[in-house]
This record gives sequence, structure tokens and C-alpha cells, in this order.
Amino acid sequence: MEKISRRNMIKAAGAAVAGASLIGVDAFAGQSAGTKTTQTGKRKKVLVIGAHPDDPESCAGGTILKMLAAGFDVKVVYFTHGERGITSVSLDESARIRTKESIDACNKLGVPYIFMNQIDGESEINAKRYLEMQEIIKAEHPDMVLTHWPIDSHRDHVNCSVLVLDTWRRVGNFFDIFYFEAMTGLQSKTFLATDLVDISEWHDKKVEALYCHKSQDCEDWYPAYHLKMEEYYGLRLAVKYAEAFIRFDQNPSPHGIMEV
Ligand SMILES: [Zn+2]
Repeated sequence: MEKISRRNMIKAAGAAVAGASLIGVDAFAGQSAGTKTTQTGKRKKVLVIGAHPDDPESCAGGTILKMLAAGFDVKVVYFTHGERGITSVSLDESARIRTKESIDACNKLGVPYIFMNQIDGESEINAKRYLEMQEIIKAEHPDMVLTHWPIDSHRDHVNCSVLVLDTWRRVGNFFDIFYFEAMTGLQSKTFLATDLVDISEWHDKKVEALYCHKSQDCEDWYPAYHLKMEEYYGLRLAVKYAEAFIRFDQNPSPHGIMEV
């Protein structure tokens, strides 16, 4: 076990108890260290890495839209093509349909995308897959990655998150990580948010993008999970809808910790 410094213990305790007053409405798009440009004046690049088609949209769609509007350079990465998302057809056919739906959703969001080639339900963590995630992240060179919180009942969410964290360490910690939650209770567990983002203005468009995933019966699960999550975090910020993140704040990156 790593030794925990007193400073980090105090920081962790502060994050846990301070709630909405600490996290601020514009954790990502604000005017503090979360500005849209790097120290060299380049637009900050954000990768949103989701395990399945519809994960980036449902977990962080409002934040993606807000960051785009604020001038961030945002790209979505799909870890799999959703091969097991439509049980009535073959894996290949499901992947084909869900790839098309993902492209429609990204077009609706106005964001570019990349597909990795892990298989939905069979994702792997091995030497080849570690390297694959490293190559993508090195090539894209993001300032910030939004991805799955790793304590989750879906193995693809866990594996995606583990590969990102391993890459962060292997490539020299050059990007910050913020974790998002998926269908909390059913999938994400023990998710204690450190950062909330007011997405009220972007909510309708987020839902439109999510509903591009026509094969996924979004009208059943979105209101039952993510809408409630957005309303709950919205209550904490005294706004209508918000998305929640856990910041990985052990990060000694040159960008520092975003203070809000
Ligand atoms: Zn998923």
C-alpha cells in the first residue's frame, strides 16, 4: 500500500465533505485552472472514452456540449462497437448498427470520434491492449480524459478505466483524469462526486444525441437512471440538471489540479 501524505488526506477529506460549494458550477468550463487553453495558448484537448456506444453520451453528453461551446477540443472514443447490445442479431450486425448510431450521436453533438476494437462483453486487459490504449492516447495527446469510474458492475467499464489509468502512469502523467458514472446503483458503485457540471442549457441536445442510439431503448433506462442522476446533482448545484465526476487528484501533471 502506498503511503498517504497528510496533505493528500486533508485534500481528500475536503473534497468529500465540502459538497457543492467546493465543486462549483463550471468545474470544466470555468475561468480558473479549468480554462480552455493550455499555457502555450493551444486549445485544451479532451478525450471522452466510453466502453460502449451511448456511454459517452449518457454519462457526459452535457459536459461534452458545454466544453465544445466553451472552446475545448473534444473527441469521443468508443472502446467497443456494442457487439452485445442487440441480442436478436449477430455480433457483427449489432456492431454495424451501433456504430452507425454512434456516428449519428457524435454528429448531433458536433464532435469527432474514434472506435477501438475491443469486443463488447469480451474486453481484455493484456500486454497488447495496454499498448493499444497507450498508442491512442499518445497520438491524441489529450490534456484531460473523461472515462468510466472503475468500481462498476460491467466488466467493459472496469477494463476501459483500468487501461486508461495504466496509460496515464506509463506515458508520464501528462493528462488529467475525471471519472464519470454509468447508471449509478446498477453499474457504477460508491461514486462520490468531486466535480459537478451544470448542463441545464445543454440538456435537451444531450438527450437528442443519446436517443440516436435507437436500438438501445433509451426511453426505458435513461429516465430511470441518468435523468434522475442529472436532477439529483442539479439539486445540489441549485440548477436544473448537472453531470457528476470524480477527479483523480493524485496527478502531478504540469496542468496542476483544477481549482474552482
Ligand atoms: Zn456501457
